[in-house]
Amino acid sequence: MHCPFCQHPNNRVLESRAAESGRSIRRRRECLQCERRFTTYERIEYVPVTVIKRSADQELFDRSKLLRGIVRACEKTPVCSQVMEGIVDDIEAELQQRHHREVSSAEIGEMVLTKLRPLNEVAFVRFASVYRQFQGIRDFTDTLSQLQDAESPTYTEALSQPENLPQPTEPSLAYTAPVLSS
Ligand SMILES: [Zn+2]
Repeated sequence: MHCPFCQHPNNRVLESRAAESGRSIRRRRECLQCERRFTTYERIEYVPVTVIKRSADQELFDRSKLLRGIVRACEKTPVCSQVMEGIVDDIEAELQQRHHREVSSAEIGEMVLTKLRPLNEVAFVRFASVYRQFQGIRDFTDTLSQLQDAESPTYTEALSQPENLPQPTEPSLAYTAPVLSS
């Protein structure tokens, strides 16, 4: 890092601190030659990841979009926003570490479900209903039995409360995208 004033290549760091909510590090530096001070920022370089949707459409991975889906699934549950953001951070970091720059939306959905499962059973089933594109009550019962297989009695307990189960808005056997609209 050359000094912006005299182009001298060496400097010393006076102070380092987190900036932009921990997304970057700000360093105050002093040139070893002219002793003038300047500031540098160090940031993570994000590589764009393409999400392949079920329709075969492609879009760039969008963390705020993913967060919105998680927030909707966690509505009226004890899962706090910090934990939700943590899920998005983890998934983004995992995608960044891969060699492939493409991921299916279904795979992202399953990543979220893996993280929601131990946190809150209602949020888990709500999220599953959208990402697994539930078509009817059979899909719910299948997912519920998966939860039972996870050997936690609290899952079925909570889900046996009728108000926790997504309800079809019309008296039709087949319905899509339940509960998530608020
Ligand atoms: Zn200088």
